[in-house]
Amino acid sequence: MTGAEVASWRLEGCIMSKAVVVAGAGGFIGGWLTKRLLEAGHSVRAVDVKPVSDWEQVHHSAENMVLDLRDRSNCKEVCSGMNEIFNLACDMGGMGFIELNKAACMLSVVIGANLLEAARLAGASKFFFASTACVYNVALQSSSDVVPLKEEDAYPANPEDGYGWEKLFSERLCRHFSEEFGLKTRVARLHNVFGPCCTWEGGREKAPAALCRKAIEAKYSNRRKLEIWGDGNQKRSFTHIDDCTTGILKMMDADVSEPLNLGSDLVISINELVTVIEGLAGIQFEREYVAGAPLGVRGRCSDNTKIFQQLNWAPSLSILQNLGATYEWIHQKYLNKYVR
Ligand code: NAD
Repeated sequence: MTGAEVASWRLEGCIMSKAVVVAGAGGFIGGWLTKRLLEAGHSVRAVDVKPVSDWEQVHHSAENMVLDLRDRSNCKEVCSGMNEIFNLACDMGGMGFIELNKAACMLSVVIGANLLEAARLAGASKFFFASTACVYNVALQSSSDVVPLKEEDAYPANPEDGYGWEKLFSERLCRHFSEEFGLKTRVARLHNVFGPCCTWEGGREKAPAALCRKAIEAKYSNRRKLEIWGDGNQKRSFTHIDDCTTGILKMMDADVSEPLNLGSDLVISINELVTVIEGLAGIQFEREYVAGAPLGVRGRCSDNTKIFQQLNWAPSLSILQNLGATYEWIHQKYLNKYVR
């Protein structure tokens, strides 16, 4: 049965639920997205290359599959009979990972290409691709006097080497599958997502999780020093996971064929982020700045004009007020692993 046939069979039976695939469901965003889709009454096929015991969240009402989606036949298997595909599977991490693993990052193109082709062959109606703010021209991000990035700033192309190029190419692939094969594709350029269940150690973690973990490590070892990469004046915007999953679901239901920013437009420096974490830890740290660490661009923030025009909605949850649950989640993980 094709995805379209499944959808019409469900409609005839007055069941409005959809059969959806979440690729990368064992990861941070995929785990939360699977939860939201199940809560909305959809049938979810959750797929990841990691053993289920390593998934951040395991939802037992989903059909959980462990498969390597670089493999074309595995992509065909997961897309068979499905109506919508959400591709969040990727070999990625924070700056410390993507600056040193460009080839691995670029190989995620194989996942996206095989999933798109399998979605088309299965007759799926829609395909979501998780792109990134790293597609934007790096020359526009060299100052901490940040000018928010508009969607058109991705061209002329000069993205983050490795990871950004892969995402920009895959965005383009989505566009051509849409134009030539009628597969409706949705592309969100995600900006630094944070929340519980994110990667928090091991070298792939992003700045908010890394700094929370370092603060917790310092607290338990009675050190007052906190290591910060660079001078701390580099600026970013950080997007709460609830805004991220809400935006993805809204985009999937709307008529948005062009890539859209999905990120907070509140720009803060890493030093300001450290001040928030000091408040959560109840400690004022001695800040140790590390020159020469992987830093990425100097300043980056999302321009949300377009997403607001298209969805009548934009991310609104500020990291200044909403980092507490993430800090507490990392705290518990740290206690369970290293203290108890
Ligand atoms: P994550 O690393 O937590 O999740 C990605 C998942 O993909 C992992 O569980 C991994 O095991 C899985 N995966 C990797 N290779 C696979 C393969 N060959 N087959 C099947 N599964 C495979 O990452 P995340 O933070 O949840 O990010 C999800 C998506 O959003 C990625 O495409 C990422 O590039 C994009 N994104 C994330 C952020 C962010 O801040 N988290 C920002 C911009 C874009």
